[in-house]
Amino acid sequence: MKSNDYIAMDEKYGAHNYHPLPVVISWAEGCRVKDPEGKTYYDFLSAYSAVNQGHRHPKIIKAVKDQLELCTLTSRAFHNDRMGPFLKKLCEFTGFEMALPMNTGAEAVETALKCARRWGVEVKGVENGKQEIICVEENFHGRTLAIISMSSDPDAYVNYGPYCPGFKRVPYADASAIEKAVTPNTVAVIIEPIQGEAGVFVPPAGYLKSVRDICTKNKMLFICDEIQTGFSRTGKRFAWQHEEGARPDIMCLGKALGGGIMPISAIVADHDVMKVFTPGTHGSTFGGNPLAAAVGMAALDVLVDEKLDENADRLGKIFRDEVGKISCPKIKQVRGKGLLNAVVFEKGFEAYNVCLSLRDSGLLAKQTHGNIIRFAPPLVITEKELREAIAIIKSVFEQIK
Ligand SMILES: *Cc1c(COP(=O)(O)O)cnc(C)c1O
Repeated sequence: MKSNDYIAMDEKYGAHNYHPLPVVISWAEGCRVKDPEGKTYYDFLSAYSAVNQGHRHPKIIKAVKDQLELCTLTSRAFHNDRMGPFLKKLCEFTGFEMALPMNTGAEAVETALKCARRWGVEVKGVENGKQEIICVEENFHGRTLAIISMSSDPDAYVNYGPYCPGFKRVPYADASAIEKAVTPNTVAVIIEPIQGEAGVFVPPAGYLKSVRDICTKNKMLFICDEIQTGFSRTGKRFAWQHEEGARPDIMCLGKALGGGIMPISAIVADHDVMKVFTPGTHGSTFGGNPLAAAVGMAALDVLVDEKLDENADRLGKIFRDEVGKISCPKIKQVRGKGLLNAVVFEKGFEAYNVCLSLRDSGLLAKQTHGNIIRFAPPLVITEKELREAIAIIKSVFEQIK
């Protein structure tokens, strides 16, 4: 079968809940992918930052193969010999005391919201049912009913009512708006340290620290959704670490924790917060399974061993520098941190067509919000590969009239 046949099959049998770029991937390695016709592309989406370690990293593949020979699933009704070592490594990597493993990013966010609501009652003393959580405009935290109840994007929430109560939404990047929204029943604030889906929107310096301070002052939990920004993507292990004194109470983790192999997510927090979970109050059949634990450990090892945070930081600067120099009248801004970057075109511009041209020239990237293209290659990309990719981007952008 050819690419077009696979696309037609997706269209016929798959729900139309995505609008993918018309390209089929049948092979991948490092920062490159291939279609069934044998054409090679640079992957500049990295599955929304889920393949920070590169496609099919040999160390992660080896961990999968080794674990497949031993044990893959036990459920949490029994202990397994992989989960503990995995959670220990995750706690050491993140600098938090405890972790709760789940599968998808949305589940990690749900876990954080449940944790905050319980903490609100049991530690802060808010009456059950009155807990409020502050979220922000343009957020993206996933697709469950509770999560889309926080969304300001009509595509995400329209006709899915009734919505989950208990959320208050304020503008992003405005700490005073959070402060004004606080009531005695507010138990937490949830934000992304950089808004990925909103178009790689980087808040002004000082914002995260201010949110941290407001949370401390009002006895609220600061929840940082690092599902897209985490695991070295922005040049530090986690994006909040770009600011001194901004440590959250709960981090939501996912995507690259699965090393590009399988869905693995978690929240991490200190004991004081995590203690609200007691036997039977939360869980997941697949959460913490030994195969995922083995993959997660290898995924973390690769980030540390290959210093992917430093690589992202160094190459990100080159990317923004070089792409910023490209002469194209429609470009308004090149922004981002580390290897999470975006090119913003003027309002009304159809970036989808640019993505098609990039594809034809051998680079895969996806537009968001119509006029923004995110560029986020696997963090294992070399400087030589990055410069080659930038040359492709330049040749396409210079054709834009
Ligand atoms: C992708 C993403 C999620 C949801 O993760 P899923 O694995 O798709 O459920 C949540 N928050 C952020 C910031 C994300 O980028």
